[in-house]
Amino acid sequence: MAGKTTPMMEQYLALKREAGDCLLFYRMGDFFELFFDDARTAAQVLDIALTSRGEHGGDPVPMCGVPVHSAEGYLARLIKAGCRVAIAEQVETPDEAKRRAKSEGKPSSKVLVKRDIVRFVTAGTLTEEALLEPRQANLLIAMVEVRGTIGVASCDISTGAMVLEETAPAMLPATLARLGPTELVAPEDWSEPDNGWTLRPRSEFSSDAGADQLKRVHEVATLDGFGQFSRAMLAAAGGLLAYLDHVGRGQLPLLLPPQSRDGNAGMAMDETTRTSLEILNSVSGDRSGSLVAAIDRCVTGPGARQLAEDLSAPLLDRGAIEARLALVQFWHERPVDRANLRDIMRTIPDIGRALGRVIAGRGSPRDLGQIRDGLREAQRICDALAQQQDRPALLDLLLPRMTGHGALIDLLERALVASPPTERSGGGFIADGYDASLDELRDISGNARRAIAAMEARYRDETGITALKIKHNGVLGYFIEVPGRHGDALMEPDSGFTHRQTMKGAVRFNSIALHEEATRIAEAGGRALSTEEAHFEELVENVGRAQNAIAGTASALARLDVAAGNAERAAEGDWCRPAISSDSVLEIASGRHPVVEAALTKTGERFVANDCGLRTEDRLWLIGGPNMGGKSTFLRQNALIVLMAQAGGFVPASSATIGLVDRLFSRVGASDNLARGRSTFMVEMVETAAILSQASDRSFVILDEVGRGTSTYDGLALAWAVVEAVHSRIACRCLFATHYHELARLAESCDALTLHHVRAREWKGDLVLLHELAEGPADRSYGLAVAKLAGVPQEVVARAQSVLEKLEAARNETGGIAVGLGDLPLFAAAPTADPEPSAEDTVSKALRDTDLDSLSPREALDLLYGWQRALKSTNP
Ligand code: ADP
Repeated sequence: MAGKTTPMMEQYLALKREAGDCLLFYRMGDFFELFFDDARTAAQVLDIALTSRGEHGGDPVPMCGVPVHSAEGYLARLIKAGCRVAIAEQVETPDEAKRRAKSEGKPSSKVLVKRDIVRFVTAGTLTEEALLEPRQANLLIAMVEVRGTIGVASCDISTGAMVLEETAPAMLPATLARLGPTELVAPEDWSEPDNGWTLRPRSEFSSDAGADQLKRVHEVATLDGFGQFSRAMLAAAGGLLAYLDHVGRGQLPLLLPPQSRDGNAGMAMDETTRTSLEILNSVSGDRSGSLVAAIDRCVTGPGARQLAEDLSAPLLDRGAIEARLALVQFWHERPVDRANLRDIMRTIPDIGRALGRVIAGRGSPRDLGQIRDGLREAQRICDALAQQQDRPALLDLLLPRMTGHGALIDLLERALVASPPTERSGGGFIADGYDASLDELRDISGNARRAIAAMEARYRDETGITALKIKHNGVLGYFIEVPGRHGDALMEPDSGFTHRQTMKGAVRFNSIALHEEATRIAEAGGRALSTEEAHFEELVENVGRAQNAIAGTASALARLDVAAGNAERAAEGDWCRPAISSDSVLEIASGRHPVVEAALTKTGERFVANDCGLRTEDRLWLIGGPNMGGKSTFLRQNALIVLMAQAGGFVPASSATIGLVDRLFSRVGASDNLARGRSTFMVEMVETAAILSQASDRSFVILDEVGRGTSTYDGLALAWAVVEAVHSRIACRCLFATHYHELARLAESCDALTLHHVRAREWKGDLVLLHELAEGPADRSYGLAVAKLAGVPQEVVARAQSVLEKLEAARNETGGIAVGLGDLPLFAAAPTADPEPSAEDTVSKALRDTDLDSLSPREALDLLYGWQRALKSTNP
């Protein structure tokens, strides 16, 4: 039989409905309890005991709980596991509940304390220090499509930084890959939402509401002062703010004025390129092994976050790049000053995030202390730097942002103790001498405490019980305790003591005098607490008034840290300042791969530096040589050097001239996308197609082993066609690694293509890889030697050797598989013998007649090329 639903269960279920797909943390005393499926999920993720309680609908209710005082750690684990949590707190005390019941005419014993969801905790809306990675940004993104354009609003709630931008639907994956959000909010009518996205009602993504909200938050009549914002951007902002309002239950976090970003202004990289270059994460998904891990020498969390942002969004504006480089050079040339700066910086707290917590209403006295210390140190740094000669322009821009907080620093210094606690409820954070009335209250408590100490001595004398003690606990408050055997003496009616509790081995009493002093302490303590609380609010208000300026100081400090850190890294590794050029060049002398070099150094091996020299008339390098010879390392290191240079940093080379790159493409390393149900070859072709359609003559492309995923003939044919297209149609700078010797013949027809190889030697039957790049075609592939090196059994290698000899003999007789290719005219037009009908007609007829299902990807690509060529040849 179904059990009766208790009032508590009714309340729970109502809150659960509100919480939707969030786990509901239901506050009961000192615990947050979870029930039903929530309990099952949480118990599994947190590895805590699943119990049960009462019953619902005839079944026991599964339940688990976490203590309130350690809830943060559990929350962190749930969020990491992809859960979202709604926190339902008691919003009235039991006394208030009883009074309410009385006024409603209900029996006060049965009344249930009111509970409400006070906050939703989601990955993108965290501010707690314990839940955030100090060196990683935590971006929440809202996006919405408005008339064919996607507006993207991104915000790091922990610091309040907010950016609005627009992107074309086709570029959305690249934009999202650049931003790397922790949580993504989209309207519920989004056509193909990803599993982890948070979907919200479409009506929340309103550009008018977004604009109004932003104006209200920033107290301005127009947003023009912040930048130009399109409808799509404002609609995304509307969605973001509505979501923040929802998760914070009406309390908005810190929001700095929105910045408008032109998504096309920087160097573009798509998702595959980012993954392949392992910029912020290595293939395994960790930070270790990534570019940022190998080059980050920042001494603060905000600096590390800024560096990650710089590397994710390299610039295209020469002036801006040179400005950053000049600041790095400034620190590079001043090792002593740099060390001093970094020593001070190391002690500076993360004031941006402390500010975020304070404004979100989750700040602690310690956060205020951090802001005080951070602003004070920023001022010190600013004073010292203002004395420096030959300051670069960027430094002159940063200095004014690090100063001007004198009054606030002074206030916080006077008001707060040196190291304020993280808990504000216990008081004790307002400094002595700040408020005379608070000092007085503290005196009263202090005197009463001393009086109690004196009382203990007096009672011992009077009773002759030397073991008598006056103690304090949370339940009884102050009490007198004597060992059990002395209890009776104090029980006497005229003893002046009243019995309170008998314990095993001890008896506890009260006395009128003790009660008086205790009351004095409690009253003064209570008033002191509320006085401190009021001061806290005042201080928060003062900080709030300066929030934009404080955030400005935080970002100026981060920028300084990035520059000094890069200079430090450059000094460590003997890196150089790249020259930035607007020509299509890429001249790198003694370039190195920062990650591979660091890994080799650890094992005591030496990294072989290599040069790269691409320019308009020699823009495509075809690189051959054995597997494991260092081809993809070479390709990647040059792409990384471009990226680091355009991010405004020094680069691992002895000299470098970087002609600005508008788009960087990297297709290196098997990015097997089998999880998405595509074969390796299909993935390769899709990616190649993207390059062929998106690259411009200002782009830089690195391609590794195009065509490896299919048969030799197909693969060679495709590689051939792709090289031709990159060379002649796109005409961009390109490094192309291949194991097809036959491609070498392209050097005859492509005049800006040259041949290179990674060197290897066979010595006493063993293969020695020199990792050194040399000019000219690879003489042979050393495939069998590599196989031997890899431990393939001797008899298999020997057998392969005899097969190879047969094949080579046959090749020499026929001229090899590429025979005749040298005569193939570049982009030979598809045979269009009949001038009638028009090319358009022919192509549409062909398209209509094609059975798409029967095509291999390669055939499809060939057809597309053919059609495009046909169209272009008649209508160039
Ligand atoms: P390939 O692409 O030719 O198969 P890789 O670039 O993957 O070769 O390099 C294989 C290994 O050789 C790397 O993991 C690295 O340990 C080593 N290596 C590559 N380049 C260098 C170099 N320039 N100096 C020293 N070792 C290198």
